Amino acid sequence: MRIFALLPILAMSVPAAAPVQAQGGSTLRIVSAPDTKGTNPFYVGNRAPLKPRPLIKLPPGAVKPEGWLKKQLELMADGFTGRLTELSEFCKAENNAWLDPQGRGEHGWEEVPYWLKGFIDLGYVLGDKRIIDESRRWIEGILSSRRPDGYFGPQSNRDNMDLWPNMCALYALRTFYEATGDKRVPALMSDYFRWQMTVPFENLLRGSWQKVRAGDNLDSIYWLYNRTGEKWLLEAARVNHERTADWTAGIASWHGVNFGQCFREPGQFYQQTGDIRYLKAAERNYDTMLAMYGQVPGGGFGADENAREGYNGPRQGTETCTWAELMWSHEMLASITGEVKWLDRCEEVAFNSLPASMTPDLKGLHYLTCPNQVQLDHADKSPMIQNGGNMFAYDPYGFRCCQHNVAFAWPYFTEHLWTATPDKGLAAAMYAPCSVIARAGDGTTVKITEITDYPFSNVITLRIGLDKPVRFPIYLRVPGWCSAPELTLNAKPLRSPAPDRQRGLSKETQAGGWLVINRIWNDGDSVRLVLPMQLKVKRWEKNRNTASIYRGPLIYSLKIGERWERYGGTDEWPGYEVFPTTPWNYGLVLDPDKPEASFDVTERGGPGYRQPFTPENAPVVIRAKGKRIPQWNLEANGLIQEVKPSPVRSDEPVEEITLIPMGCARLRLTAFPVIGGGPDAAAWDEPQEPQ
Ligand SMILES: [Zn+2]
Repeated sequence: MRIFALLPILAMSVPAAAPVQAQGGSTLRIVSAPDTKGTNPFYVGNRAPLKPRPLIKLPPGAVKPEGWLKKQLELMADGFTGRLTELSEFCKAENNAWLDPQGRGEHGWEEVPYWLKGFIDLGYVLGDKRIIDESRRWIEGILSSRRPDGYFGPQSNRDNMDLWPNMCALYALRTFYEATGDKRVPALMSDYFRWQMTVPFENLLRGSWQKVRAGDNLDSIYWLYNRTGEKWLLEAARVNHERTADWTAGIASWHGVNFGQCFREPGQFYQQTGDIRYLKAAERNYDTMLAMYGQVPGGGFGADENAREGYNGPRQGTETCTWAELMWSHEMLASITGEVKWLDRCEEVAFNSLPASMTPDLKGLHYLTCPNQVQLDHADKSPMIQNGGNMFAYDPYGFRCCQHNVAFAWPYFTEHLWTATPDKGLAAAMYAPCSVIARAGDGTTVKITEITDYPFSNVITLRIGLDKPVRFPIYLRVPGWCSAPELTLNAKPLRSPAPDRQRGLSKETQAGGWLVINRIWNDGDSVRLVLPMQLKVKRWEKNRNTASIYRGPLIYSLKIGERWERYGGTDEWPGYEVFPTTPWNYGLVLDPDKPEASFDVTERGGPGYRQPFTPENAPVVIRAKGKRIPQWNLEANGLIQEVKPSPVRSDEPVEEITLIPMGCARLRLTAFPVIGGGPDAAAWDEPQEPQ
């Protein structure tokens, strides 16, 4: 029998000291980030002098989705992403500039590479031959466009000195290389960045998207440096940083997508300088935006197209591109820092807001997803929503940028579920049903099967598959919301001895860290991790004092009856408006002493292999109490009237209401007013101080 010891540590911010060596040569520790002292010879991490990454990406295809996630990706393959060559004029092969060796032709801007950078990964994570073959055609087109001076891609972008579309194309090429090892990719990239170094300083990244989004270019320069070791690439990276909009001094753009994908740029450059202030600048950018416009559930912020003063309530929207870009930024910053908070943030977007941005069959999308969004008609909602025109109704043909760019959200998420670590271990960075095949320890190939219905269940079981016993560490992320994880190895609980717990390993210190099991693993070993999900009522004190219901990584919305009405598209690819068929204008009735006691949670069983993100399939349902607020209506343009500050008075009777996961609710109320009876509670139509 093995005895495990938990190492007492004083605080999560302090790296753990040497682990307690227990009987059987196994240790269990908790750390704030994987140790970066070692070198993983199996996977490409950062090359010196870049700061080593605690989480090292595995090649595409190493992580295979299972269960609901596999269903999600298969729906994508059959949905608009997988069929975009049939739907999008930009993705038509005929006369397409991305397929021409001279870069001549049409549609040479961002759309094709936006789509291809997700489409190719979708092919590899699913092992879908049709998608791999189709993406290969576009990759070959791009590779064929390599010019003698190093430039590649459509000539029109070169004529405009616009490097932005190529930044997206480089991601697709990287995936192709990671999957195939085709040496034409690093050769093209090396030539291209050399060419970039010949561009006069004042002509490089001189404006528009390329200037505010050049963190993507920086990531590809580092990617290439890590593979070739060409020192001049660090100089190219420095120049790239200097010519990028200044995200170090503050938020360089309040445009939602620009922010979502480039708030991180100083954090990327931190890898080269080692100066912690750059990393802090990325964190400050995020914290600033969230404090001003993100005091809402769902992991986003109101920027419908830009974040605007006075428009910070839960009816403001976040663009579908922004969801995808935020997830990638979080994945990247997690890799750079090893910090759990970025992975928590990625899961919040993935499980709550991203699914609601698309129809359940993934055959349509809309531009803006909002925490409170009770009717999805196609009428103009400006200026309350900044963009005019249809922003809410689902459409497979519209929303040009998002229609192409959302392709990478779920595939990248899948690829980042597991990572390698510098100490030749593996890390369960985010959780979903999947399996991973990767090398660890002495180089032995390990298969870990992750059996779970997470985020709809709190139980995660890992089955280890090995040809021979091998020692390596497995890192298990403990989300920041989970204070008391439970761990079992081969049906035996792993507990710290009581004195250790008393000496400082409080429950709190485990939240937001990594549990590390280092041992000689045997074929058939089984790890069971339970992440208890406590229901929490979060009050948005700085945003109308509304309330949102959190339970683990999921947020819960009012279940609203839906009537789907076709308004456009074709029989095969219809566009839909969605109208409410049940009342939505509720305030929550909370137990004032113990708000969490106001709810009754029912777990209806995991989704297994099916789409969980529909009202009917909601795997978890919460009963709550509410009162109607009769004066709360829609604006004349169909937009929900903005929620008033709580507490709110209502003379209506108390009713039982049903909450479902936010991602299941295409119509939803997620930032609720709270009903009050005291003197501080105002009637809905009383004039109020602006907030
Ligand atoms: Zn977009």
